[in-house]
Amino acid sequence: MKKMPLLFLFFLIAPLALSGDKPEYAIALHGGAGTILKKNMTPEKEKAFQEIITSALRAGEKILAEGGSSLDAVVAAIIIMEDSPLFNAGKGAVFTNQGRNELDASIMNGADLNAGAVAGVTIVKNPIILARKVMENSKHVLLSGAGAEVFAKDQNLEIVDNKYFFTQRRWDRLQEIKKKEKESAGSADFKTGKHGTVGVVALDKNGNIAAGTSTGGLTNKRFGRVGDSPIIGAGTYADNKTCGVSATGQGEYFIRAAVAHRISALMEYKGLSVQKACDQVIHGTITDMKALGGVVAMDADGNPAFSFNTPGMYRGYLKAGGKPYVGIYGDGQ
Ligand code: ASP
Repeated sequence: MKKMPLLFLFFLIAPLALSGDKPEYAIALHGGAGTILKKNMTPEKEKAFQEIITSALRAGEKILAEGGSSLDAVVAAIIIMEDSPLFNAGKGAVFTNQGRNELDASIMNGADLNAGAVAGVTIVKNPIILARKVMENSKHVLLSGAGAEVFAKDQNLEIVDNKYFFTQRRWDRLQEIKKKEKESAGSADFKTGKHGTVGVVALDKNGNIAAGTSTGGLTNKRFGRVGDSPIIGAGTYADNKTCGVSATGQGEYFIRAAVAHRISALMEYKGLSVQKACDQVIHGTITDMKALGGVVAMDADGNPAFSFNTPGMYRGYLKAGGKPYVGIYGDGQ
């Protein structure tokens, strides 16, 4: 008699455990965290975000399903979001205090800890492609400004005029912030608003994890300012032993907390699950610093983790044989 409940429990738990089986491949992404409120969203805008997030997931999935690498999947998904004016990356990037666009991006390969990044590029259509070229075709990890742009030309990447990145929405936002800045005697308000940075993590059929991030940074940032997105260990990190991570939020704090590497370290040295590690850093370290933002991460078993301390974060996930998941708002909205 006493054995019955145990047996019953086994049959109850076994299918759950199986459904958590490691997928052949998986991909997860964020499109920025911030004051994303359902009450401010129109159905059209919501749909537009859902569509682009789904296309980005599908672009990565196509590569992963055919046995392609997680690096290729990360780049393909980020290109979709860089080319969309909806996100603060590539087309749609925010403006500096000088009214120009300066873009940052990075990518990391969890198989060998190789990495590439670019900061402050102004004429490269897809900074994520350039970050990958830096990783694969240079001796360096991080190239910035004019040097990065000469390298982009050497690598035959698509070059555009800085005006290509112009969007009215981001321009208006710069004017709003400048006005507020004048009213509050010069203290730039980085505490509020939306962050539309994009980031992708993927696990391929060979068990390799990759992570990448691309951004225009923060509206009204001082020209020359570099955020966390191109800093390996802050905005991006990947290690097959632990996880891949891409961050979004107030970069100054994310650099100081070495957010992406901190998450990996919590898994490696403290044995935390990917979700617990992300929560500890976002709801612990980052929240304690009174900073805002979030992360997407994925462990070596293809489990995704999303964590953010803002009202919302654009996000998505897709695993082999599954349906795309798209999320926008946080709990309680
Ligand atoms: N983390 C980015 C930066 O500080 C901004 C963002 O995620 O929106 O440049």
